Amino acid sequence: MVLQKDFFDLPTGMIYLDGNSLGPLPKTAKARVAAMMQDEWGAQLIKGWNSAGWMAQPSRIGDAVGRLIGAPTGSVVMGDTLSIKVYQAVAAAIRMRPERRVILSDSGNFPTDLYMAQGLIRALDQGYELRVVAPDEVTEAIDDSVAAVMLTEVDYRTGRLHNMGDLTKRAHAAGAIMIWDLAHSAGAIPVDLAGCGCELAVGCTYKYLNGGPGAPAFIYVRPDLADTIEPALAGWLGCAAPFDFDLEYRPAPGIERMRVGTPPVIQLAALEAALEVWEAVDMSELRSASIALQETFIHHVEARVPQLALASPRDSAQRGSQVSFAFENGYAAMQALIARGVIGDFRAPDIMRFGFTPLYIDEADVIAAVDHIEVVMRDRIWDDPQYLTRQRVT
Ligand SMILES: *Cc1c(COP(=O)(O)O)cnc(C)c1O
Repeated sequence: MVLQKDFFDLPTGMIYLDGNSLGPLPKTAKARVAAMMQDEWGAQLIKGWNSAGWMAQPSRIGDAVGRLIGAPTGSVVMGDTLSIKVYQAVAAAIRMRPERRVILSDSGNFPTDLYMAQGLIRALDQGYELRVVAPDEVTEAIDDSVAAVMLTEVDYRTGRLHNMGDLTKRAHAAGAIMIWDLAHSAGAIPVDLAGCGCELAVGCTYKYLNGGPGAPAFIYVRPDLADTIEPALAGWLGCAAPFDFDLEYRPAPGIERMRVGTPPVIQLAALEAALEVWEAVDMSELRSASIALQETFIHHVEARVPQLALASPRDSAQRGSQVSFAFENGYAAMQALIARGVIGDFRAPDIMRFGFTPLYIDEADVIAAVDHIEVVMRDRIWDDPQYLTRQRVT
């Protein structure tokens, strides 16, 4: 069963089409965090690291996330934020190709991924270059100067999908390391990490995995590399024996070496409870349900709201789990929609973005959302000073 509305604590009267940015609150997470505060942190204090299993959380929950992205047990670990995990992945990848100097990415990538690579390059000061090409030029740009290809599968603005299997093959044929960012994939579309063969993957858990604001990120390392990969962020909890307190860092065996410092125990508890919803969900059914919602949305918007221009690929096989429309006054229009209880978001310069999450959105929600969009556009409700001032988070 895909639709699980009752699993979430959704405000009445709100149509939430922003689960691609921040998933809603699962009732299990609310209960689990309350209980862990009381019974674990409150009652056990420091003993909780052993007695409540806090120290094992990052790899235990990593396995649960791994099941959703086709990663074998023991190949995924949780921690930090996605920006940090991108840094770790790129740093480890270029160490595997020391004779090469190019990191390749595309202009559809999320800026923090590019910024983290730029920061790493500056810190290393060894002549590395970040080459950024248009998304449809990536295949051609992969040559034997490229140490690592770093791409996000789903474009955060348009929802355009890269072909993970083909691009990974292409990278490998050129001798490059492949890194996939699954920020808009995990929990949104089926992912087969093991089948794709990439060396590294990263992603976050507050979007389609509903782990809550600030929920920790994950990193995957292909199992055959996990004992040799070199962690650039050599934190004590990624070392072989943290409680020996050695002065010299020795990496832990396997994926544990990608841990850095103290795990965010409360956030991980929320995430672990949030992940329970997936036990009953088949990813290919979820994908079909998502496509059906997106197609309904596109059909109705195009038929009834001529002011909006589709900015996502028309072919559903080329789209993730979001639909974007371009409109000159998109920011104001989205603010007007939010005021009416239809929550999407805005991405500069002109993208109105709507996420489709079949766990808690159904066809009636989609139709009701389009009714609001039609009124806001037809009556120019957005053209009001209260909607025109940009807030800090858009
Ligand atoms: C959401 C997102 C991020 C966010 O990174 P944080 O460190 O968690 O803030 C990074 N990269 C991509 C591709 C994203 O979609």
